[in-house]
Amino acid sequence: MLRVLTSLSAEHDWRLLALATVVCILASFVAVGVFHRACVAKGTDRTVWIGVAGTATGCGVWAAHVVALLGWQSDIVVGYEPMLLVLSLALAAVTTTAGLACASRPSAAWAVPSGGAVVGAGIAAMDMTAAWSLDLPGTIARSLDLVAISVALAVIFAATAVLAAMRDDRLPQTVVATVLFALAIALQYITGIAAVTFVRDPARALDLTPPDALFASPHVLAVAIGGVATAILAMCLVAVVADRRLRAAYRQHNHQLDVALNNMSQGLCMFDGLQRLVVCNRRYLQMYGLSADVVKPGCTLREMLAHRAATGSFSGSADTYIADLLDSVAQGRTVSRAVELDDGRVVEVMNSPMPGGGWVATHDDITERRRAEKALEQTRIFLDTVIESVPAAILVKDARDLRYMLINKAGEDYFGMPRAEMIGKTVRDVFSAATAETIMANDRKLLEAGTPLFFDEHPIETPGCGVRIVATTRRPVLGDDGKPRYLLSVVQDVTDRKRAEARIAHMAHHDALTDLPNRAAFNECFDHTLGQAAKSKESLAVLCVDVDRFKEVNDVFGHAVGDALLRTLSERLGAAAEGAFLARLGGDEFALLQADGPQPASAVQLADRVVAIGADEFDVQGHRLKIGISVGIAVYPNDGTDAAALLANANAALYRTKAAGRGSYRFFEPDMDQRLRERRALVHDLGAALGRGEIAVYYQPLARLDCEITGFEALVRWQHPTRGMISPGEFIPAAEESGFILELGEWILRESCREAASWLRPLRVAVNLSPVQFRHGDLPGLIHAVLLETGLAPNRLELEITEGVLIDDLPRALSTLRRLKLLGVRIAMDDFGTGYSSLSNLQAFPFDKIKVDRSFISNLESNPQSATIVRAVIALGRGLALPVVAEGVETKEQLAFLAAESCAEVQGYLIGKPLPIGAYAKTVGRRAAAARSA
Ligand code: C2E
Ligand code: CA
Ligand code: CA
Repeated sequence: MLRVLTSLSAEHDWRLLALATVVCILASFVAVGVFHRACVAKGTDRTVWIGVAGTATGCGVWAAHVVALLGWQSDIVVGYEPMLLVLSLALAAVTTTAGLACASRPSAAWAVPSGGAVVGAGIAAMDMTAAWSLDLPGTIARSLDLVAISVALAVIFAATAVLAAMRDDRLPQTVVATVLFALAIALQYITGIAAVTFVRDPARALDLTPPDALFASPHVLAVAIGGVATAILAMCLVAVVADRRLRAAYRQHNHQLDVALNNMSQGLCMFDGLQRLVVCNRRYLQMYGLSADVVKPGCTLREMLAHRAATGSFSGSADTYIADLLDSVAQGRTVSRAVELDDGRVVEVMNSPMPGGGWVATHDDITERRRAEKALEQTRIFLDTVIESVPAAILVKDARDLRYMLINKAGEDYFGMPRAEMIGKTVRDVFSAATAETIMANDRKLLEAGTPLFFDEHPIETPGCGVRIVATTRRPVLGDDGKPRYLLSVVQDVTDRKRAEARIAHMAHHDALTDLPNRAAFNECFDHTLGQAAKSKESLAVLCVDVDRFKEVNDVFGHAVGDALLRTLSERLGAAAEGAFLARLGGDEFALLQADGPQPASAVQLADRVVAIGADEFDVQGHRLKIGISVGIAVYPNDGTDAAALLANANAALYRTKAAGRGSYRFFEPDMDQRLRERRALVHDLGAALGRGEIAVYYQPLARLDCEITGFEALVRWQHPTRGMISPGEFIPAAEESGFILELGEWILRESCREAASWLRPLRVAVNLSPVQFRHGDLPGLIHAVLLETGLAPNRLELEITEGVLIDDLPRALSTLRRLKLLGVRIAMDDFGTGYSSLSNLQAFPFDKIKVDRSFISNLESNPQSATIVRAVIALGRGLALPVVAEGVETKEQLAFLAAESCAEVQGYLIGKPLPIGAYAKTVGRRAAAARSA
């Protein structure tokens, strides 16, 4: 140690030693700094930095040694061997470069200290080579132990310095590494120089000539070397600092970029022209659940797609995908498309080409946006549907130019114009000038008022639907600025409702068939007119009008013809009324109210005109109809002072007209009242008559030409307690009108069948059926039940029907007749030849018998036409294999005529009158007859 201190203080020029120390520290600092740069650099940069580190450090270490050496024993050193000096410099540079290169690549744990050791060993080797270059007047002896120590110190400190530098590049660690490296240089030099002992040799001194030895003084040389080394090192230092700053800035920039990239809501990847990933953010990996180990810079698009396919976020052909992508990149097109993933997410991928063949892809998860868009769309559709379904017209106009923006379906119907032709237009383009002005004025009023306006029912002329009655509500819809943006109108088209109301009002007072005022309207008018007549003390006439034979027309030709007849008749009556109020009171009943003119003269004229209408023929639906009109007249105030009495009396007069031959008119006379009351009483009594046992069945025989009785026709009789025997011709129509015929008919049927069943001889019984019985209820069912009940053989029962049954509803009538026939009963066509007999009726159904009406028989002698008709009917029956029965045979002459014509059967007073069955007890062999009469 003493040796070391002596060598340092006594043998060295302290100024050069100081310079050497400065160079040493600088060299150490540069070595650590440049080494740090080399460690962070990559590729070629790294090699350059290693080269610079090695060369600069080597030069610095060498310069520090040489400067110190130049200050050593300057009195004895005469020169230097230049080649060896250069060799030592090269040695320092090469070993330092090699050592740092090894240390900066820490592939194994030992590489760092080993690299440092190589540097240390290099320093020692350089030191010895430099010492060797000294030209001395003597020899040098070295103490080997110190040499060993110097080498060891260099190796240990250099290795430690490299280890320290390796840890990090911040200032404290840099200072520690610098100090350690400086110590490696200094301690090696100090120990190395202390190991040297100079032994003067005069012989060797003589060989040395001062001019050859040194071309400059050692001081100058030392300063020059120190200066150059310092300059080089300083330059390196500048480079180190610059690089450090550059790298720091770059790192900072990269960091910012990373933060920006990783905080993007979109996934992003950038590819180079060779389809290799340059950069991608975390969001991208998260979006598809990808591994950062696979998806990292340098991996190819194909590898990425394979990874995505494996993790389930890509399906389809990678080849096609890549081909399409490259195609758009080559064309410089930015392509964007939405991809639906298997998990339901929707990702919008946008590929934007970059110069150099690369591209940037952004992946945006638009699932929520899509969902929101869909929800919005659904809401829109829902609202559209609501608006379209609203039965009121909804119209929206733009508040700025008052052009139509929206019109719903009801609006289209209201305008009577396709909305496509209206959208974008103003009211001026759509409505007539006057209407448009009104609407415009209302729109302006609304814009000024800013509050909803309501316009109650008012007419408006629409472009396509004529004048409509509407109620309108208008309101402004405000924009963000609080000013009206749209004008909303809701138009309620009440035209149909109004029309319906008017129609209902009309219907309440009019008859649907003829459109004449009805009974209610007549009563109203009657009361009103009576009131006026009472005030003005004037008379007025009420005429009740009834159509003769209307029921027959209805029965024979059906209701359609009947209705058409009533319509034609109404028109003619209307024309004949000449100012009198005409109404239809129901069915074929009409009434006229005549308030003008002197009475009864005016009523006579009116009645004449009306009756004349009935005398004309009516051509209805191809039928020539002959009806007749009967009129009854009552005059105010003579025949009554209130409407009810006047109408009743006019009706009584009408009834009398009809009873006395129809087709005329009659004024009311006080005794008519009494008769009408009687008729009403008759209808009323009929109901109770059956219960009281006043109704009886009489039987009239039917016989062959040889007077052999074949059966009986059941004919109903009413034994009235006060009025005596009443003919069925009088009460049957009343029973048909009131519907009582159903009950009465059933009773007659049951009574006749029970009676016939009790006869010993199997004679037939014929029962008359009313068309009303045919139309209502289950007739075949009833007859079947009655037959079972009474035990009468079906072939003994004969049902007599008139043509009216067939004409009403032929298919239904035929079906009922067939079912009756299936029961085994016989069907006879009654009253043939009267009314509207039609031969086709005989063909339509296989009747068992035709009964020629008795009017033809009674006229046989007086009217030759009747004989012709009877003859023709008998011939017809023969042709159709139908037996013909002649009714009403009263004389032998008539019987003889019928016998000559081979009529099958006869019925009439000549054979037997309708009588209670007791009168025919013998004929029928009635067992119960004796008991009953007893
Ligand atoms: P109708 O079916 O043509 O009945 C025959 C009518 O001619 C009967 O009149 C009968 O008394 C009458 N008569 C029979 N022979 C002669 C004769 O030689 N000379 C004259 N002058 N008359 C004769 P009636 O009993 O007054 O019946 C009138 C009509 O009333 C019947 O005509 C029939 O249409 C209907 N009627 C009678 N009884 C019933 C019934 O039980 N049910 C239904 N629905 N109608 C009935
Ligand atoms: Ca009959
Ligand atoms: Ca008859």
